[in-house]
Amino acid sequence: MLTVRGLDVHYGSVHALKGVDLEVARGTVTALLGANGAGKTSTLMAVAGARRASGGAIEFEGRALIGMRPEAIIRSGIGVVPEGRRVFASLTVEENLRVAGSLHTDRAEAERLRGAMMERFPILAERRTQRAGLLSGGEQQMLAIARALMSAPRLLLLDEPSLGLAPQMVDRVFDLIAELKAEGLAMLLVEQNVPLSLEIADRVVVLANGRVSVAGTAEELAGSDLIRGAYLAA
Ligand code: ATP
Repeated sequence: MLTVRGLDVHYGSVHALKGVDLEVARGTVTALLGANGAGKTSTLMAVAGARRASGGAIEFEGRALIGMRPEAIIRSGIGVVPEGRRVFASLTVEENLRVAGSLHTDRAEAERLRGAMMERFPILAERRTQRAGLLSGGEQQMLAIARALMSAPRLLLLDEPSLGLAPQMVDRVFDLIAELKAEGLAMLLVEQNVPLSLEIADRVVVLANGRVSVAGTAEELAGSDLIRGAYLAA
């Protein structure tokens, strides 16, 4: 459903992505791994329309995304959970979800989705009137995911959802990702946690210095030294 071909991203004279190819098939998870600075966030942000691609093609369900505005990309069916969660700290949990819901033209649908999020995330329901900035890191991550789900996406982009979380919360976030996958949601998952990523992913793409160094199915790569080598050496 998502195809990225020959993606190039520049930051001034820095050539951050040099012809990245990857795919996410319907209902599957592709994990994007690699060392710091390898280009994972740049790839995700280019798909989300938040970074301008200087070359290549990005297609989602047959539609070319390059040049589309980030809001239009969200409306086309792609949800984004950015690195560092970026919830609105001074707004309440409920207000964070309302802001996300305001992207919907249909208010009734936005209300229905907000109710569904409160049911799915009891911790958010409990804290609905609390400022998001007062939540723990794990709770903020849940809120960031709930917010992204408010646009009823068919593909979710997740940037390091487990980063900085207590081990117990890491497990909860990955349980949630597994649940969403079981419901048929496709995901492009940027992660540092290689073992958990290999467990949940169907396909794995490893970036090194802005290029794909290894790509294959999670099964192929889980047993191979390639991934360890590529990941650690990058
Ligand atoms: P991390 O895990 O640290 O987020 P990453 O794999 O997501 O790393 P990117 O953040 O995509 O990597 O960065 C890829 C390259 O682009 C790096 O060399 C980085 O220094 C550079 N880069 C990223 N953002 C900018 C920017 N705003 N200006 C200049 N260079 C940037």
